[in-house]
Amino acid sequence: MATEYRYDVVIVGLGPAGSSLAYLLKDTGLKVAGLDIADFSRVWGKPCGDAIGKGHFLETGLPLPKGEAMMQIVNAVDIYSPSEEVKIRLSEPEGGFMIDRNKYGLQLLEEAEKSGVDVYLNTHALSPIIENGKLAGVYAKKHGEDGDVYIKFYSKIVVDATGSGGAIKRKLPSSWPVVEPLKPTDSAVAYRKIVELDYDIEEPDVIRIYINADIAPGGYWWLFPKGRRIANIGIGVQRGRGYPHPRHLYEKYLSRRPDTGRVVRLLNEAGALLPTRRPANTIVWDNFVSIGDNAYTVNPVHGGGMGYAMTAAMYAARGIEKAFEKGDYSVETLWDVNLGYMRSTGAKQAGLDILRIYLQTLTNEEVEWAMRNGLANVDSLVEASTQGEIRRLNLTLLEKAKVLAKLLGRPTKLMELLVVAEYMSKVKKLYYEYPENPKDLAKWVDRVENLYREYKTRLGVDW
Ligand SMILES: Cc1cc2nc3c(=O)[nH]c(=O)nc-3n(C[C@H](O)[C@H](O)[C@H](O)COP(=O)(O)OP(=O)(O)OC[C@H]3O[C@@H](n4cnc5c(N)ncnc54)[C@H](O)[C@@H]3O)c2cc1C
Repeated sequence: MATEYRYDVVIVGLGPAGSSLAYLLKDTGLKVAGLDIADFSRVWGKPCGDAIGKGHFLETGLPLPKGEAMMQIVNAVDIYSPSEEVKIRLSEPEGGFMIDRNKYGLQLLEEAEKSGVDVYLNTHALSPIIENGKLAGVYAKKHGEDGDVYIKFYSKIVVDATGSGGAIKRKLPSSWPVVEPLKPTDSAVAYRKIVELDYDIEEPDVIRIYINADIAPGGYWWLFPKGRRIANIGIGVQRGRGYPHPRHLYEKYLSRRPDTGRVVRLLNEAGALLPTRRPANTIVWDNFVSIGDNAYTVNPVHGGGMGYAMTAAMYAARGIEKAFEKGDYSVETLWDVNLGYMRSTGAKQAGLDILRIYLQTLTNEEVEWAMRNGLANVDSLVEASTQGEIRRLNLTLLEKAKVLAKLLGRPTKLMELLVVAEYMSKVKKLYYEYPENPKDLAKWVDRVENLYREYKTRLGVDW
C-alpha cells in the first residue's frame, strides 16, 4: 500500500527550474511539495557550464548567489574565431556569475523549506496519477535507510521540472498538446570537465567561447574560469547529424592544448543532453505546468538554460497563484503562464532559434571570414543574443559601407543574412501574437511550423 499525501502543488524535479518555483511559491500560503531523485550532494547536479547572467536574478527576484555559491564574477565574454586569431569581446553592463550549482540550489531550497515548502529528496517520481482522465498527482518511490516507501502525492497542479528526460510529461496521454517530442537536431549533447590548472588564468572574470566546427560541430567549446586556477571546460555538439560525442572530441582536441590540457586535478566530468530550440508550443495543460529544459526554455544559441528556467518558473508561479485565487486549475486559467512566457522571453528564444539554425550551417571558413570582416559586429551580436533579433547595426557610416562592400563580394552571404534577419523578426511577431486561449493553439502552431519550413527551404536546410 502506498502512503498518500495531499498538496496544492507538487513540483517534480528540483534543479534550476523546480527549485526556483519552490522558492517563488514559498510565501503564497499554498501547500507545496518538491521532489527530486537526487540526494543533497546531487541537488542541481546536472553537468553545466555554470555561467549565468545577473539579469536573470534581477528579472525574477531570485536571490543572488552568495558565499560559496558564487565562485567568480563574470564581466565579459570573449568569442574566438576558428583560427583563434580574431577575438570579439562582449561586455554586458550587468555582468554575471560562475556559480557552484549545488550550493546555490541548496541555498534556494533551504529558504523554501523555512517557509513551509516540503522538500523530498531521494524521491523518484515514477508516473503521473491520472484519474477519470484528469491529472491528479504523482506516484513516487522514496528511498530511505529502512528501504523504499511508495507515495501517492495528490495535488491540484503537477509541475514537471525534471529536465529533458520529462519523467511526467513523457507519460501523459500523447493526445495532450503539451506532449511534444524533442527532435534530435533541435538539441545538443554537451560534455564538460571541471579542472584545476597548473597556471594562473589571465582575466578570470572573462569567460571564453571558441567557435570551431571541427572541435564542436554545430556548437562551440568553452573555457569558463571559476577563479584563477579552476576552470569549467567543455564542448557542445549538435545531435542528430552523426557528429562524434563531445567526450571523444575533448580527448582529441582539448586534452593536450597548453591552455586546457595543463591539468593538476580533475574535479568532475560529465555530459548531458540539452534542448536548443524555441520553447514547447504550450507549457501548460489541465492541472499541469512544465518548466525548464522540460519545456525547452533554453537559449538556443548558447545553450544557457538556467536563466530561462528561472524566468519560466516566475511566470509559472504567477499563473499558479492566479489559478488558486480562482479555484480553477484548467488549461484555460493556466494559459496565463503561456501568455507571460511566450510573448516575452519565448519570442526572443524563437528569434534566437532561427539564428541558431543558420549558425549551424556555417563552415569554419565562413565564420572566420565573417568575424574578420566585422560582420559579427559587437553591437549586432549583443543585440541578437539578448533580443533574438538583428535590427540595428550600430556602425558608423564608413563602417557600414565597408561591411556592405565585403558582403557584396559574397552576394550569397548577403542574401542569407537578409533571410535570417527577416525570419527572426517574423517568428518574434508570431510569438507576440501567441493565442489568447487554448482553442486557437493548433492554428498558431501550424503558422509557426509553416514559417520554419519556409525558412529552412530558403536556407537549403534539410534537417
Ligand atoms: C554540459 C552543459 C553545459 C551547460 N552550460 C550552461 C551554462 O553555462 N549556463 C546555463 O545557464 N545553462 C547551461 N546548460 C544548460 C543547463 O544546465 C540546463 O538548462 C538547466 O540545468 C535546466 O534546469 P532544469 O531545472 O530545467 O533541469 P535539470 O537541471 O536537468 O534538473 C532536473 C531535476 O529533475 C530531477 N529528476 C529527473 N527525473 C526525476 C524523477 N523521475 N523523479 C524525481 N526527480 C527527477 C533531476 O535529479 C534534476 O535535479 C548546460 C548544459 C549542459 C549539459
